[in-house]
Amino acid sequence: MIKQEKPLKNTLPDWQRAVIKVGSALVAPGGKGCSTKFLLSLADFIHDSLHQGKEVILVSSGSVAAGAGLTDFDLTQSLSIPEKQALAAIGQSHVMQHWQKLFDEPCAQILLTRSDLDSEKRCLNAKNTINQLTAMGAIPIINENDSVAVDELVVGDNDNLAASVAVTCEADLLIICSDVDGLYDKNPNLHTDAQLISLIKVINQQILSYAGTTHNPIATGGMHTKLQAAQVATRIGINTLIVNGRKSTTFQQLKNAQLAGSLFLAKC
Ligand code: GLU
Repeated sequence: MIKQEKPLKNTLPDWQRAVIKVGSALVAPGGKGCSTKFLLSLADFIHDSLHQGKEVILVSSGSVAAGAGLTDFDLTQSLSIPEKQALAAIGQSHVMQHWQKLFDEPCAQILLTRSDLDSEKRCLNAKNTINQLTAMGAIPIINENDSVAVDELVVGDNDNLAASVAVTCEADLLIICSDVDGLYDKNPNLHTDAQLISLIKVINQQILSYAGTTHNPIATGGMHTKLQAAQVATRIGINTLIVNGRKSTTFQQLKNAQLAGSLFLAKC
């Protein structure tokens, strides 16, 4: 992990290893199967970062949404756990094929559960595999092992999974790609005067109170789980960004080392 410096205004802090979380609403928008609609500029940013010798680990959702797109299931209806697990099993290989189409580098699938992360031995094995993959120039792509994880075994959302992966892999940047611009002080869909908070030095009660609930039936988390992830990551020294992954300008800014979205500063 490189030493964290305080960011210059509007400048992305320097980083060497990033975990990038990409939600279902970006990978399989509308629950109608995988789409490149929102992924091309992200892939370009990743490609550019790899070219500079940086390392990128993806945490990708989308298996359930991709599975729904390949069957008659509708994610806006309530689905049973076995139905979701079956859709994840159908969709996961499609998500991987989809990512692979965007990169020349090999894409490597790693499926984890909470119990893997809680077991010192399995967590170390996962870390060693990820390190080996990045050393080989491959792109590790992680998802929760949905078809075996239920109840106490489940992380439950990929925001928290991404934070755990960032901690395990000693990343120095966590980027959570959302479908909103970042953290607002009010719901921007309801309040025209809502302000984007671009720099958060401390995640206090006031910041936590800004998290609304998700209304996107395709997405699992919402701002609440993104703030939980930011808390976990910043606490151990990982700068965390919540950005709008639907906007190609986001990744152009990041490519130019400019800040985008909301930056939660690492506590060093
Ligand atoms: N693992 C789930 C999927 O791939 C998504 C969980 C999440 O997005 O938080 O569909």
